[in-house]
Amino acid sequence: MHEDWTVKPVRLPLIRRSCQECTSETFRTTGKFRVNANHKLLDVWLLALCTQCGTTTKIAILERTHVRSIRPEMLDRAHDNDPRLAAELLQDGVVRRRNHIALDWNDAWRLETGGSEYPEDEAIDVSVRFEAQIPVRPMRLIAEGCGLSRGEVERLVVDGRLVSAVRLSGKLSSDFTFTLKR
Ligand SMILES: [Zn+2]
Repeated sequence: MHEDWTVKPVRLPLIRRSCQECTSETFRTTGKFRVNANHKLLDVWLLALCTQCGTTTKIAILERTHVRSIRPEMLDRAHDNDPRLAAELLQDGVVRRRNHIALDWNDAWRLETGGSEYPEDEAIDVSVRFEAQIPVRPMRLIAEGCGLSRGEVERLVVDGRLVSAVRLSGKLSSDFTFTLKR
């Protein structure tokens, strides 16, 4: 039996950055952009608000970039405050490194399974697909998806009845498969 599961973002992740005004370490963005033009040079920032005090911080997307070297479609989406553009840009490691930010995906994703009952006497192969690079523990996903406790999942690994090419005990953020024989 084969199943497909999906790890799906349900909202934009929080942005980890220390607030200059309070003790908060996280900012929330709704996908609001600011575009500044200076002659032919453009700055584009993604704006985010401190989750405690509401102070605005700017995530640099483009700095002093010639208008001709910017895709017009991207500029339109920034002007429209497109949250999907924000999601795409936050997935970009270059943007994150340049701005010294990390993402906090707590409560910002969910697991979608086929929803079927798993027969006890049959092995199941499950392909897990990530719609965004969300770091999650495979053990936690498997427990949730199969309706098992964390302890039961650990026992299945020890007994060799839960196998995968990836290390199930760490964190993952890309597609993987596993086989479960109960
Ligand atoms: Zn603050």
